[in-house]
Amino acid sequence: MSLPKLLALGLVIGVVGWWWLGPRAPSPGLAAPAASALPAAARAEPAALTAPARALPAAMAGTTPASPAPAPAAPLAAPAGSPGGAGALLLPVQGIGAAQLQDTFTDARSEGRVHDAIDILAPAGTPVLAVADGTIEKLFDSDRGGLTVYQFEPGGRYCYYYAHLQRYADGLAEKQAVTRGQVIGYVGSTGNASPEAPHLHFEIHRLGPEKQWWKGESLNPYPVLRGDQGLP
Ligand SMILES: [Zn+2]
Repeated sequence: MSLPKLLALGLVIGVVGWWWLGPRAPSPGLAAPAASALPAAARAEPAALTAPARALPAAMAGTTPASPAPAPAAPLAAPAGSPGGAGALLLPVQGIGAAQLQDTFTDARSEGRVHDAIDILAPAGTPVLAVADGTIEKLFDSDRGGLTVYQFEPGGRYCYYYAHLQRYADGLAEKQAVTRGQVIGYVGSTGNASPEAPHLHFEIHRLGPEKQWWKGESLNPYPVLRGDQGLP
């Protein structure tokens, strides 16, 4: 009595179950989640792309707090700018990254001197780049520095000093305007540098009111070139 009934019930459940699940499974069943997941991911991408774009001006606005004037200037500074912000300088040796720099600012040198500079090792002939826009103030050949360049920053507050150059860039001349990234010379070992270890000796000087290229207070280029801090 009850066994045939159960069998009949099982058959009914089986048929209904097939009808219920069968048509759904083949067409939208598996395909639907995958298809709907794609637009969701695609929608997430533009959102992620626009987010930093919106965040950038906000971050730059944060670096120029007080006056309303710098706001339009911020987008102009963006292409030339590096992670460190407005005061950050370009690394002056082509192909050298911030991670390769070593802080040797306080290292001792001969005759009781302090280094007051950073040495950036690179093969002789590697292009030396202007760290920022400015003017070539002086081209000077000295015993210690060898072939050197003194570049003034446009504001006239700082001088960038490049030494031990193998040679200058063709046509480089005093009072010439240079732009950030322009090749101004080539790594060498002129002056008192070891021929076995060609490098760029780079200094930053804060100029006095007289703006004399040979005179200034030395600032450590290491954190500035790394983008950790701007010029004070
Ligand atoms: Zn040096």
